[in-house]
Amino acid sequence: MPDVSAAAGVQRVKYLEEQASKFAPAVILFGSPGSGKGTQAKLLRRCLQGPHISTGDMLRQHISEGDEIGRNVQGVMKSGRLVSDDLANHLVEERLQHDDCSSGVILDGYPRTINQAGVLLEMTKRHRFQPAVVHLVVDYEKIVARLSGRRQCPVCGTLYSVTTNPPKIAGICDLDGAALVTREDDRESVIRERLEQYELQTRPILEYFRQTDVPMIEIDGQGSTPEEIMQQVCGALAASGLIAASAVDALSCSEANVRQ
Ligand SMILES: [Zn+2]
Repeated sequence: MPDVSAAAGVQRVKYLEEQASKFAPAVILFGSPGSGKGTQAKLLRRCLQGPHISTGDMLRQHISEGDEIGRNVQGVMKSGRLVSDDLANHLVEERLQHDDCSSGVILDGYPRTINQAGVLLEMTKRHRFQPAVVHLVVDYEKIVARLSGRRQCPVCGTLYSVTTNPPKIAGICDLDGAALVTREDDRESVIRERLEQYELQTRPILEYFRQTDVPMIEIDGQGSTPEEIMQQVCGALAASGLIAASAVDALSCSEANVRQ
């Protein structure tokens, strides 16, 4: 008797791989300060075979080149305000059309507003991308505990943690004996303020995507290594038909090779 379920499984995989080849995945990455988003953005390039597109990086690039866009946004960026929706949308749409985006992209820091989210959905259709939200979910209390426990040597820059990586003598750098300090960014009140800002800004955008048919992948951003989290994200993307299952297999093969 033929194994019907196995055949159906093969069909399904073929279907998903065909879908994956029609539209390149556009991963919209969300994660609070301290969630490891920057690390994931870099690791995910491996399973998506595409670039990490950070609007912040693109804007800083324009500023350092001193071109017209750079001159216009310099003041806005310095004061911590957001650049206009039109500019952010334009930068991303232009970038998505580069050749290196043809097999997939990771969007970081975009969309920042509901308007941008709506425009992004239109432009992914236009340029044949399948969007998917990846949200690194974290416990804010753990982030506060970790970041506020950091101490830095003002002389050599070495970072310590009062809980996981303390100096031999409390408050003193192992290397040069200087008194350790808490960086301004690592003060508890500053961390809480940044998390609150993040929450206020991001929650409505996540809600917006929940009301669309864009796949939402929520992954625990703590408790596993960055490599394991990346594997979980890629596995979820494959299960949603956004990337070929073979891309995930290749990933574990390359990892096995590295470990040998
Ligand atoms: Zn030191």
